Amino acid sequence: MSNKRDYYEILGVNRRATDDELKSAYRKLALKYHPDRNPGDKSAEEQFKEAAEAYEVLRDREKRSLYDQFGHAGLEGSGFSGFGGFEDIFSSFGDIFEDFFGFGNRSRSRSRAQRGADLRYDLTLKFMDAAFGTETAIEVSKAEACGDCGGNGCEAGHRPETCRQCGGSGQISRNQGFFTVRTTCPVCRGQGQMITRPCHKCQGNGQIQVNKRVSVKIPAGVDNGSRLRLTGEGEAGSFGGPPGDLYVFIHVQPHEFFERRDNDLICQISISFIQAALGDRISVPTLEGSKNLDIPRGTQPGDVLYFHGEGIPSLRTRKRGDQIIQVLIKTPTNLSKKQEDLLREFAKLEKGKFSNKLKSMLKGDSLN
Ligand SMILES: [Zn+2]
Ligand SMILES: [Zn+2]
Repeated sequence: MSNKRDYYEILGVNRRATDDELKSAYRKLALKYHPDRNPGDKSAEEQFKEAAEAYEVLRDREKRSLYDQFGHAGLEGSGFSGFGGFEDIFSSFGDIFEDFFGFGNRSRSRSRAQRGADLRYDLTLKFMDAAFGTETAIEVSKAEACGDCGGNGCEAGHRPETCRQCGGSGQISRNQGFFTVRTTCPVCRGQGQMITRPCHKCQGNGQIQVNKRVSVKIPAGVDNGSRLRLTGEGEAGSFGGPPGDLYVFIHVQPHEFFERRDNDLICQISISFIQAALGDRISVPTLEGSKNLDIPRGTQPGDVLYFHGEGIPSLRTRKRGDQIIQVLIKTPTNLSKKQEDLLREFAKLEKGKFSNKLKSMLKGDSLN
């Protein structure tokens, strides 16, 4: 540990340096030895780490006082053991590095390349296509890179020229009192370059409006409001920027028999009161043909029966919902003479049953 250099010496400041002086000294060294500026340089890396360690100690009042009194030995056991790597340094001094490099980074990454706009397409699907998925083609009107000039907007054999007004930066500086004001270059409108011989096909825009057929795979289980993203199928980007995305918004047509609730299907069937009373087996439509349904004896109006797993497949899990069958009971009309006689007969028996129950209730017996 004794071969460590003195922290003040590393930063090149005197022992009474203020916080601001420390910060400023560290800033200079960090800029000089920053790994981005010295790729692969081991010695720069060491000096970068050394400066970070020195600054980490001296900016902290408590650690600085320990160091001033006892030197490097004073910091042993204080929990400080230097930095393992760049990650540590950047996470410790994140705010400072933003301060130091924030503006520089932004101006370096400032680019004319612009991502193309996203597009929206509203697609109406048949109920069954939404349930089981399908593949369909849609036609989208969008901007595409011009095929003649490859998107640079220049006639064959020419290239965009650097704007003379702003020298290609896209911005011009103006002095206003004490301040320098930067504004968008009016000649190139901030693009930094000029097209002197525009492409005939696109008039220098670099893009042309086309109607493009796009194939869309609809996954099984989409519903109203589902949104599919087709990466890169939006408008072309400009100046080499990537294209935007195409968003397909799904609308599902209603079905005459089924109603959808999430992944369940709801339907209604009508049965006669005889079927309800005696039970029956009937045929009920499902998404895939008909299926037999057992009506239990004594089914009541509004009772609900199920076909499990006969609903819509879940978009995520592929597991299918249920078919929920609501039972409606029809009252018979246009009875024949014989049917009516039988019903009256039936009614007499029901009345008998009822008055027996009533009598026993009045006697204090249980209803059941
Ligand atoms: Zn063109
Ligand atoms: Zn310009």
